[in-house]
Amino acid sequence: MKILLTNDDGINSLGIYALYQELKKIGQVSIVAPETEQSAVGHAITLSNPLRVREIYRDGSFYGYSVNGTPADCVKLGALVIFKEPPDIVVSGINLGPNLGIDIIYSGTVSAATEGTVLGFPSLAISLGTRRDPDYSFAAAFTKGLCLKVKEKGLPPGILLNVNIPAISCAEIKGVKISRQGKSRFKDTFEKRRDPRGNVYYWLTGEIVREEENEEADTKAVDGNYVSITPLHFDLTSYLSIRGLKEWDISLKD
Ligand code: MN
Repeated sequence: MKILLTNDDGINSLGIYALYQELKKIGQVSIVAPETEQSAVGHAITLSNPLRVREIYRDGSFYGYSVNGTPADCVKLGALVIFKEPPDIVVSGINLGPNLGIDIIYSGTVSAATEGTVLGFPSLAISLGTRRDPDYSFAAAFTKGLCLKVKEKGLPPGILLNVNIPAISCAEIKGVKISRQGKSRFKDTFEKRRDPRGNVYYWLTGEIVREEENEEADTKAVDGNYVSITPLHFDLTSYLSIRGLKEWDISLKD
């Protein structure tokens, strides 16, 4: 199995290394990842600057390629340019922090997997539900199993899997839930500060707001100590709204 591995936390992140160590047991792992952290860049791509690809060595041997671009740039370059053969699967992660609810629209992790899907490859976004003292061991082992499952079953065209793993011990995890994207999001707060020269700047902070959720929501699964797997697609059409909007009878003369 040829696995294209990326991570919006950058090529030096612990999350990509944990996944590299596990996934190389089941296939040929090729890393293409941003040279610096690119969290929350969403599906951005680089159009007006050159993309530099560098060989990165770790412990004296070749590790992967770094790119001075976004996670989506990395997947495009990896799948189309750097490697002779296309990947069998694209894996993005393990992200430091969850990707749940409305916040996934900002996620570089999810966008890298979306890019893999756009290019026609089965793709997974993997996130761990903590931003502090991560232990990636269970998440990495679980992802290895999920890759084998995806290889066996295949994914429908245009569908990626957004996987969130609770940051608890393997023994505490109750199981796996197939979930839907929930409504949780960050409640934004801008902190106003002054730099040493007296100029005002702002820093976006905030806290996660748990909206009242459907029982099948991704956040409910993770909060209930389940691994959450949400099938996503990039067709943003609201099919439910098409009929009602047609009834507006919008004409050129309106
Ligand atoms: Mn990240």
